[in-house]
Amino acid sequence: MANINVFGTPWQEIVDWYLVQPIYGQIFVLIGVFAVLALAVVVAYYIIKGAAYLVYYVLKGVYYLLKGIGLLFYKLFEGLYYLISGKPKKDSPEQQVQPQASKLIAQNIPIQETIQEVHPEVTFCSECGNKFSNSMFHTLSAKGIVYCIHCGKGFQTNSATIEA
Ligand SMILES: [Zn+2]
Repeated sequence: MANINVFGTPWQEIVDWYLVQPIYGQIFVLIGVFAVLALAVVVAYYIIKGAAYLVYYVLKGVYYLLKGIGLLFYKLFEGLYYLISGKPKKDSPEQQVQPQASKLIAQNIPIQETIQEVHPEVTFCSECGNKFSNSMFHTLSAKGIVYCIHCGKGFQTNSATIEA
């Protein structure tokens, strides 16, 4: 132990100095040494943690960079492929929307065909020619939609404009 130096002071000299101190001084020095050690451990922990985070984020950044470059090349080659081959893209947005639109139109057609908008002055069924009954006017004004009691054709209107 004699050859060990702490900040240029031989270890033996420190031990000798420590031993001649009063007991409170020795306790105080011990507490001080432990506090410095604890602080050193905490500082070392945060330095290591910081270094680990730095390495982690650098690797993550490199990963996303490579991923972005990969995706860019993929899209580039995909675009070139469709450009050269002349094939339409399988997942183009226009073709995805079309089936839904035609589906909606198909769903609306039967309603438009069977239900006719009724104006206040119209009181006869356009399908069978029978006059609208009072109960039909009542249903029409109450629900805004009615079906002819003779032929079953649907009629709709703004409820406020109909009077029996
Ligand atoms: Zn009718």
